[in-house]
Amino acid sequence: MKFGTKVIHAGVNPDPSTGAIMTPIFQTSTYVQSSPGNHQGYEYSRTHNPTRNALQNSLAALENGKHGLCFSSGMAAIDAILKLFQPGDEVISTNDLYGGTYRLFTKVFDKFGIKFHFVSMENPESIEKYITDKTKMIWAESPTNPMMNIIDIKGLAKIAQKHNVLLGVDNTFATPYLQTPMDLGADLVMHSVTKYLGGHSDVVMGALVVNNDKLAEDLSFIQNSCGATPGPQDCFLVLRGIKTLHLRMERHCQNGKTIASYLRNHPKVEKVYWPGFEDHPNHQVAASQMKDFGGMISFTLAGNQMEDAFTILKNLKIFSLAESLGGVESLCGHPASMTHASIPKAEREKVGLSDSLIRLSVGVEDAEDLKNDLFKALDQL
Ligand SMILES: *Cc1c(COP(=O)(O)O)cnc(C)c1O
Repeated sequence: MKFGTKVIHAGVNPDPSTGAIMTPIFQTSTYVQSSPGNHQGYEYSRTHNPTRNALQNSLAALENGKHGLCFSSGMAAIDAILKLFQPGDEVISTNDLYGGTYRLFTKVFDKFGIKFHFVSMENPESIEKYITDKTKMIWAESPTNPMMNIIDIKGLAKIAQKHNVLLGVDNTFATPYLQTPMDLGADLVMHSVTKYLGGHSDVVMGALVVNNDKLAEDLSFIQNSCGATPGPQDCFLVLRGIKTLHLRMERHCQNGKTIASYLRNHPKVEKVYWPGFEDHPNHQVAASQMKDFGGMISFTLAGNQMEDAFTILKNLKIFSLAESLGGVESLCGHPASMTHASIPKAEREKVGLSDSLIRLSVGVEDAEDLKNDLFKALDQL
């Protein structure tokens, strides 16, 4: 099946008891057994739930993987991966990653004796020197937040395979519409389902997709033992959201291109970070591993003043000032004071995250209205 058919049909079947075409919300914690141990494959909803199963199968199909596992948030999904490891094990992570992941690594799992190396992955070969016999996983995101850097996933997979370590990819920004890391050699694909997959800013959820049966078995053991599973209502909402993923992404990409080009030509804008530009440092890698370039954009202002960024954020009317991304509505944010405030200014500036940097999650509204909104806000400077 092609992607546009998979989002509608993969993993979901009409309900056998009624023929309901949409997967019912199995709002139940337990299942009746006809005699002890004699059940229909379902015992308790932390372990299995039919609504969750349908979603897990759908996500696995979208990522071209064999097994899907859902969690109560994106962070819970990453937490489950790290519970595969033991004290003394090491992880090599990109140094340009989601703040919550950095916090989980350094403030929680560091305490349990797992060692993290945060390194630039601009050139995949350069990470080889950090690999030891203790290394268990390489962890990457592409595109990254908020600088929209692109990491060569195939290049990382080569290194991971050579040294027999896992490669995990946070595919939240790209979605399986734009990029399927399993096809590039990743072992684990992770999503904050909260973002594009849910797509309507009404659910917090996470997911993992893997191919290896043993890895899937170990992760579902952790999923059931630790218990950070989503409820059936949320699974239903995501199943519904996924049905329009290809349509939404097409528009996110179109609007992203329109807005990125508009901002690039605006005299009050200093620099626009978007992997679709041919002069983006890793445009070639982006073009080879992604179908299109998405609707996430960051830009800085001429003069680089924080107050100017605040003026714009205050005057945007259609773009709402909020954390999160990937919903149908456009959002704007100020990483230096919001998502990345915990990183010292000098460190922020080293990676280009300056005080005037504004991040946009371009939604699926009419592009003319979005352009006008930015035009009017920039006009206030
Ligand atoms: C939001 C996000 C997460 C965390 O997911 P939650 O669903 O908020 O727990 C992880 N990685 C990326 C890239 C994200 O944007």
